[in-house]
Amino acid sequence: MFPRCSHPASRSDIDHTIPFDHTVAADGRPQPGPTITSNLGALCRRHHRLKTHGRWCVTQPTSGVFEWTSPHGHTYRRDPTGTTCTDTAPDAPPPGIESNSRH
Ligand SMILES: [Zn+2]
Repeated sequence: MFPRCSHPASRSDIDHTIPFDHTVAADGRPQPGPTITSNLGALCRRHHRLKTHGRWCVTQPTSGVFEWTSPHGHTYRRDPTGTTCTDTAPDAPPPGIESNSRH
């Protein structure tokens, strides 16, 4: 899930954290973005688009834990307990201060 987003997962899109590559089978290469729990996350339509077309990056170090990096380089961890700002810079803003990170 996106930092601070409260859209219900049951009404969200399923996103491949590492994009599914539809071309690997023909080339015989391994699939970088398999459809397995540890590579899937729920994103609302708006934030799904933001990830796909924006410059937000996400990794999923363990299943259900998402580490987001904003276009400005701020980092947030989203896990089942909520959103944590994980910036190491001392002047890091709180999560949600960036205009495109909220509904
Ligand atoms: Zn959202």
